[in-house]
Amino acid sequence: MSKPKPFPSITGSCACNTIRYRLLTSPLFCHACHCGDCQKYTGSAFGLFLNIETYNLSVISPTKPVVVIQEKKPGVKGRFLACPKCKTELWGNNVLGAAVCDLRVGTLDFPSLMEPDLHTFVESKVDWVRLPEGAKSTPKGYDYREVWPKSSLKRLEVAVARVAQATKEKQEKLATLLAKQRQENTSESDEVNVEETGGEGEKTPTAVEFEDNDVEDDEAFEKRFKETEKALQSRLEKLSLKLEEEELARKTGELAVGTA
Ligand SMILES: [Zn+2]
Ligand SMILES: [Zn+2]
Repeated sequence: MSKPKPFPSITGSCACNTIRYRLLTSPLFCHACHCGDCQKYTGSAFGLFLNIETYNLSVISPTKPVVVIQEKKPGVKGRFLACPKCKTELWGNNVLGAAVCDLRVGTLDFPSLMEPDLHTFVESKVDWVRLPEGAKSTPKGYDYREVWPKSSLKRLEVAVARVAQATKEKQEKLATLLAKQRQENTSESDEVNVEETGGEGEKTPTAVEFEDNDVEDDEAFEKRFKETEKALQSRLEKLSLKLEEEELARKTGELAVGTA
């Protein structure tokens, strides 16, 4: 028997090449979206995305991408990772939550390696774009459960479970740390960004608290999947951020002095 072939090195970068990344395995799915939003966001004829497990996407440059949360159109916040220098959008998350990335295929070093498994929202496709013969398409959105290959759905299941577990562990750890730090700080200052957390910082986060979560996907796809996980992730980021801020403030002595 021949040895299994190693997965070819599929790499990509932002426009200025500060951020470089590598796919550690094959994508779960690839689709071209011809919706009006994708046309606006990209300034082009369509958006081109591939999905891959977040842990199978590795940043190989010393500089890491930054998280950008941006209101792309009124009431719709998008969250994605971008190059801090050239601002190229690299990937984000979609309705599938933190377990899966939505990578912008045009940022691959060789974008033509990927061909869309599906063209969506072709009802708003620009006229001169002709789909390849036999290409699958749908007038509007799609349900991944119906169009993804079985193997990808299996991988998705594994990824969601793994990320949920990791999130839970990280969240518990952070909550403990935060509580400890709070205890240490109580005597020093009462004015530490209480408003920023809505004064609920001492509570242990639970899914129930996140009803009015602000991370919402740009398209109104069927949204019944993994709301809780997404909400937890968002809260987790806020917690991490707050911890980092507090730590920084403590280091620079700002905390003891208070805000001028
Ligand atoms: Zn860049
Ligand atoms: Zn779209």
